Amino acid sequence: MKRQQHILVTGGAGFIGSNFIAYLLNSLKEIRIINLDKLTYAGDLKNLEPASGNSRYTFVEGDICDQKLVADIFEAHDVNNVIHFAAESHVDNSIASPSSFIDTNITGTFILLETAREQWSHDQESMTYNRFHHISTDEVYGSLGAEGYFTEASPYAPNSPYSASKAAADFLVRSYGKTYGLNVVTSNCSNNYGPKQHDEKLIPTIIRKALAGEAIPIYGNGTNIRDWLYVGDHCKALELVFSNGREGETYAIGGVDEMNNLEIAQTICEILDRKTGRSAGSLAGLIEFVRDRPGHDYRYAIDSSKIKENLGWKPQISLQEGLEKTIDWYMEKYQKG
Ligand code: NAD
Repeated sequence: MKRQQHILVTGGAGFIGSNFIAYLLNSLKEIRIINLDKLTYAGDLKNLEPASGNSRYTFVEGDICDQKLVADIFEAHDVNNVIHFAAESHVDNSIASPSSFIDTNITGTFILLETAREQWSHDQESMTYNRFHHISTDEVYGSLGAEGYFTEASPYAPNSPYSASKAAADFLVRSYGKTYGLNVVTSNCSNNYGPKQHDEKLIPTIIRKALAGEAIPIYGNGTNIRDWLYVGDHCKALELVFSNGREGETYAIGGVDEMNNLEIAQTICEILDRKTGRSAGSLAGLIEFVRDRPGHDYRYAIDSSKIKENLGWKPQISLQEGLEKTIDWYMEKYQKG
């Protein structure tokens, strides 16, 4: 008989992790979730308010780099699955100060893998059924030109300390599958957006600055292109990869909704003009180009054929629809103060 799933989710107080915990508790009724989060500047327990009262949910404040704590959690909660989100996630911070990216994204991932191996290697059943799902990024593949798409077969070519640290983690995960037979799976997604994203990221920054009537900073000439994925669509993809993805494989997940940064800012300004009763074109006047990010990747875009064909996933929310929902959420947040 299959044992109850006790899932250690790391980084669950952050943007994607908190959306995912709420989604998974609702979608899978038998599971238990233990959320280990250090509550860095990017983590916020308010993100977990709907989940925090659930009897199948436990929060532990702590660092994935703390080997003893991680081992204690595995033992105390009989952890038989890991879904690993915890990371330093902001590219600009990795350029200013890369050290914590190396600690959390590389060493932290190593400690989780090593603990899983130690705890699960005693019986073959655990090594077969207990899964380690690593959440990664399309940024490990580097930058595209105007044409083409990343796939699972694209060569790794990370350009920032952030993407290099995620690439290192991806390789460690792969090696634990190949070397020790750990049941690993990795998903590499494009840029997420939606409720609960930290204020530092592009879309919340545009919304916040526009609502405050301040200059909206856009790097370079605004032509950098991203493939935007609504976080709710990403959560569905993650459940499929976790539950049905093939051991040892990687899955690229993209929103198939490309837009350049200037167009994103203009679209958000148009929606906000309408929602706040301003005349069309008012807020776009706040857009201001600023000095480009060093090593700024030009374009990311994902060919999601594999997850579509093998796991039956496709994004449901268009960028326009997702931006409307996201803007509603941030307007409420910023109006509450
Ligand atoms: P986030 O920055 O919003 O949240 C990260 C969470 O990890 C925070 O709650 C933080 O407190 C926690 N954390 C950081 N260091 C920790 C440590 N040492 N120990 C325990 N907890 C720690 O990040 P996010 O946007 O939710 O991203 C989640 C994952 O998805 C990351 O691995 C990121 O690389 C990946 N990813 C994100 C995006 C995106 O667009 N947001 C795109 C591709 C991949």
